[in-house]
Amino acid sequence: MCGIFGVHGHPEAAHLTYLGLYALQHRGQESAGIVSSNGHEQYVHRAMGLVADGITEKHLRQLPGRHAVGHVRYSTAGGSSLRNAQPFCATTDGGSVAIAHNGNLVNASAIRRELEGRGSILTSTSDSEVIVHLLARSREGTLEDRLIDALSRVKGAFSLAMLTDDALVLARDPWGFRPLVLGRLGSAWVAASETCALDLIGAEYERDVEPGEMVVIRRGRMRTLRPWVMAPRQAFCIFEHIYFARPDSNVAGQNVYAFRKELGRILAREHPVSADMIVPVLDSGNAAALGYAEESGIPYEAALVRNQYVKRTFIEPSQSIRDFRVRIKHNASRGMIAGRRVVLVEDSIVRGTTLLKLVDLIRHAGATEVHVRVSSPPNTGPCHYGIDTPTREELIAHRHSVEEIRRILGADSLGYLSLEGLRRASEQLKHGICDACFSDDYPVLSEDDPELPQLSLFRPPIEVDGEDSDT
Ligand code: SF4
Repeated sequence: MCGIFGVHGHPEAAHLTYLGLYALQHRGQESAGIVSSNGHEQYVHRAMGLVADGITEKHLRQLPGRHAVGHVRYSTAGGSSLRNAQPFCATTDGGSVAIAHNGNLVNASAIRRELEGRGSILTSTSDSEVIVHLLARSREGTLEDRLIDALSRVKGAFSLAMLTDDALVLARDPWGFRPLVLGRLGSAWVAASETCALDLIGAEYERDVEPGEMVVIRRGRMRTLRPWVMAPRQAFCIFEHIYFARPDSNVAGQNVYAFRKELGRILAREHPVSADMIVPVLDSGNAAALGYAEESGIPYEAALVRNQYVKRTFIEPSQSIRDFRVRIKHNASRGMIAGRRVVLVEDSIVRGTTLLKLVDLIRHAGATEVHVRVSSPPNTGPCHYGIDTPTREELIAHRHSVEEIRRILGADSLGYLSLEGLRRASEQLKHGICDACFSDDYPVLSEDDPELPQLSLFRPPIEVDGEDSDT
């Protein structure tokens, strides 16, 4: 998963991009990068780690110009290293480009093999780089047409921002897997993965970039194109709303926090329980727990406390004191929990390892009963479109029934939101959804993963280096 941000026509373009990436930090913590343009030349800075750690005031002073794109990365394809950090840059005979991409391509490996067979040297292991190489090899005239050409060859998820010397180009795949919004800051144009990034810089939300749309902004003017065959349906990633997007963002026309709360309400109706308190798994289960509490009339209590200062990695204790690991991050408030019946609300269960420890923690704090409620259906399949999920075999709901999972967790009861409940709530969204990791209904099928059937929606084969290709 990644976050992207772009600015066109503002004297502080790089600084605004820095702030935008800061707001999108939850979408990727492995690397951050900004490329700016003064209309003639591009300037780049990329670094590993968080935005605030990798990009300093000194770096921003070295990123002049009125246009910029930025990217925060969480690796879903390709490893964690600086050579995979985005935006990817290239100098073509049509000018310089920098591309920031969010999403996964399901035929990246096939295209990579083909490109390498034709002599391209790919310097990263990220599937996003294939877009840059396809663009550089395209025989179309303008850089926009080359991007259309390049994106016609890829399958899967892309929401991307491309910076040329004088234009900001935005594109979203016809399925609309990943979000991308457009805003205004005075006369400048701004684009971001989520509206929370527009809010931070005081920009006004204008509209979503629509699935299958390309937006070209040059000399302050915006034009819109529909260069690709429409998808048979839209497939906005519902996991963005369940877990990934920031709760203060509006995504696909719906406030994320309000949506999560609604899931909690539906969950309470589907899986009622007699208990003394509703406790969220912080922070992911907050909104759903509130919805559950409101619907059930059971009080909401933040009885599980999370240490805000835990780094992503810390010195692992030895095996004999391994149990401290979960307590470094969470603690259950014994004074509130002892002698009470607790409903623990979480947004999803992937492997189940954290939840198992939390149930144990709550029991040790003296709860008489622990009931687990999950505001999404059992997660039975991996994501191929940009969310970092484990393999199917590692997903607890793929290997076990709900009753088996309840026993593994050591809970008194376990209730998941139904797929029907999720789909009913999703009717409020502006776009049709992808819920494949819960339903196995994968909208775009992979050439890289033979387990998935094939479906092509893009234009007929195009010519690359004088030869036909059907990739
Ligand atoms: S498979 Fe799941 S995580 Fe991936 S795009 Fe679809 S809903 Fe989102």
